[in-house]
Amino acid sequence: MNEYGTRIHHNRLPPVDQLVITVLAQNTTDITAERAFQQLKSDFTDWSEVMNASHERIAESISHCGLHNLKAKRIKAILTEIHSRTGGFDLSLLKDMDIEDAKAWLTSLHGVGPKTAAIVLLFSFGLPVIPVDTHVFRITKRLGLIPENTTRERAHILLDQIVTDECMYSFNYNLVQHGRKVCRALKPHCFSCILSNYCEHYQSH
Ligand code: SF4
Repeated sequence: MNEYGTRIHHNRLPPVDQLVITVLAQNTTDITAERAFQQLKSDFTDWSEVMNASHERIAESISHCGLHNLKAKRIKAILTEIHSRTGGFDLSLLKDMDIEDAKAWLTSLHGVGPKTAAIVLLFSFGLPVIPVDTHVFRITKRLGLIPENTTRERAHILLDQIVTDECMYSFNYNLVQHGRKVCRALKPHCFSCILSNYCEHYQSH
């Protein structure tokens, strides 16, 4: 916290928007996903029009993105399923659910895994759930917060239990920053790392 600060999430997107942009961000950069998302929003009037469009037309709209054909099919399927379950595209029902039920509701959508579900619940609703992306997964294992052989799915459960509710957004944001700048996958900069005194990986090498 001292190094990267306490983060408060502003600019919350509506949950369906957050879900779509998170699908767009799979295997690409946030900037590319944002561009594709803005193009999608300008090419279609609303989510109903996207749902009713052919996947080819959606793919053309998001063609900035890698895997755009796959993502177009996924977005169409997700919107169709949400509409079929709720009669629209309002996911506010999730905030009144038990968190585990809300996670289960989201992950039962085709193509939505625990990380995407956690992003929607944390970023759109401010619920205490940690998205375990590649940086969070790598660093928490190196620090020894979760066992080395933990699966990504299990890491979501363990970290949700370890981190206090009010710290979850900052914890996620700051670990992503730390992973990009210091604790890189191939050559972590351990000698300049503020966490080296607490890091199992560093202490054991
Ligand atoms: S000491 Fe090294 S391995 Fe541990 S968190 Fe810091 S950079 Fe990562």
